[in-house]
Amino acid sequence: MLAQNAKAAEPGMRAERSPAGLRISSVKATVHNVPVKVPLLERALTTQLVFVEVRTDEGVTGYGLTGNLQSFGVREFINRQLAPFLKGKSALDTEARWQEMFLTFNPRYQTGAWSSAVSAVDIALWDIKGKHYQEPVWRLLGGAKKTVPAYITFGLLEFDRDQLVEMVRRFVTEGQDKFKMVVAIDNGENPLEDVARVKAVREAIGEKPDLMIDGNYLFSMNRALEVAKRVEPYNITWFEEPLYGNDARLLAQLRQRCSVPISAGQNEGSRFRHLELLQHGAVDILQPNVCYVGGYTEAMKVAGMAHAFNILVADGGGWPHHNMHFQAAVSNGWRVEFHYLMWKVGEIIYKSAPEPQKGFVTLTEEPGLGLEPNREALAEFLEN
Ligand SMILES: [Mg+2]
Repeated sequence: MLAQNAKAAEPGMRAERSPAGLRISSVKATVHNVPVKVPLLERALTTQLVFVEVRTDEGVTGYGLTGNLQSFGVREFINRQLAPFLKGKSALDTEARWQEMFLTFNPRYQTGAWSSAVSAVDIALWDIKGKHYQEPVWRLLGGAKKTVPAYITFGLLEFDRDQLVEMVRRFVTEGQDKFKMVVAIDNGENPLEDVARVKAVREAIGEKPDLMIDGNYLFSMNRALEVAKRVEPYNITWFEEPLYGNDARLLAQLRQRCSVPISAGQNEGSRFRHLELLQHGAVDILQPNVCYVGGYTEAMKVAGMAHAFNILVADGGGWPHHNMHFQAAVSNGWRVEFHYLMWKVGEIIYKSAPEPQKGFVTLTEEPGLGLEPNREALAEFLEN
């Protein structure tokens, strides 16, 4: 290797590529509708996802995933444009692949379907890279810690107050200690009911466990402020994405007008949107999700920016089995979300999905992501 490097350094000489193996031989995206039986609810709730399989000429295969937004557009973009573009290129040079895809397909910095597609492909490439180097992805990315705090998103809008309390009590009994519930009942027009639900949950779990609330972009400034002020007595760890459009300027104002920490960023599809949140002082916690922001490659850049602002990252938007590798990789990773639906979808479509134990999840030592697909389940829930 040394001789080769010395030779490559001579003027006019081109560096030899490392062995040409692990060339991408195929990229295939499929859409799946996976039903999850939720305790206390009569009907199953269905989650849609786009699954990506990247094969290489040496037989190493990587698996990636993104969520439901614009899923058929994402699938078609991957199969018809990214797949032929990537064929024959090295699967290991993840930074080069990301940058080429960006310059070729997204030179005007749009997000949306492009961000979801590149996320799923990038995740699959990192899975391949880990399998090739025989290391788990979280360690290849940085390896800040092997065990990551895990929080449970249990509080779906489908539950009434009593069901919320019963659901959270089940997790408390299991030893979980960090919980998130959705607010913005009636599209954000019923703040008193939101507050009553938060109060009921806090009284059920006692003072010690962490409790977060998530507005999913559904409040106006006035309504968000009303909710934030009224839940101040219930010791809320963060109020996630309270405002229309994740408006960075208004989030910064809201932050100044209440004592509840503000978080945002789970569906922001680029480092530039995260930069805007940081530059405005809009958040106490930044929430990049590797399945939407542009995969591990882009999420690492967001974590680096957040680190420079002395801000922790803690994902929202679910898909814990992919985001735990990112949270474990970076030293400003705070906690990973186990959203009930996407957590259970992961357990259906993968054979070996790590579970949270008493508020923490321990990362795999398996190479790559350590997630072996359940082919039967993927076939059963395939959507054409
Ligand atoms: Mg959220």
